[in-house]
Amino acid sequence: MSDCLFCKIVKGEIPSKKVYEDDQCLAFYDIDPQAPVHFLVIPKTHIASCGAITADNSAIAAHCFEVIAKVTKELGVTDFRVVSNCGEQAGQSVPHLHFHVLAGRDMTWPPG
Ligand code: 5GP
Ligand code: ZN
Repeated sequence: MSDCLFCKIVKGEIPSKKVYEDDQCLAFYDIDPQAPVHFLVIPKTHIASCGAITADNSAIAAHCFEVIAKVTKELGVTDFRVVSNCGEQAGQSVPHLHFHVLAGRDMTWPPG
């Protein structure tokens, strides 16, 4: 999608601090980190949110989780939280599927 912020990051039109990239997905550090380690994993294709995952595109969501396991290992992170906000009320501000990976501090439950 041409006006999507994360599609622009995928295309390199907006710079990002990449932590991992392959043909299907990209991981980059969040511009406003909420933990000592905070990166986002996104599919390169535009999927609006977790609510738009279907049998046709779920393989890429699964791949994002492979990437989360790989990158956290590479960073030496064993304890972490994965969050995907779906919809404005849940706190989604960028309508392109992304998984937040947060680590390096104690986490509270339930989340706010
Ligand atoms: P959401 O609020 O949709 O769950 O998460 C969107 C995330 O994208 C936020 O944590 C926000 O800080 C991050 N973000 C917004 N704009 C940019 C940007 O231009 N670059 C990077 N690296 N992160 C961004
Ligand atoms: Zn997009």
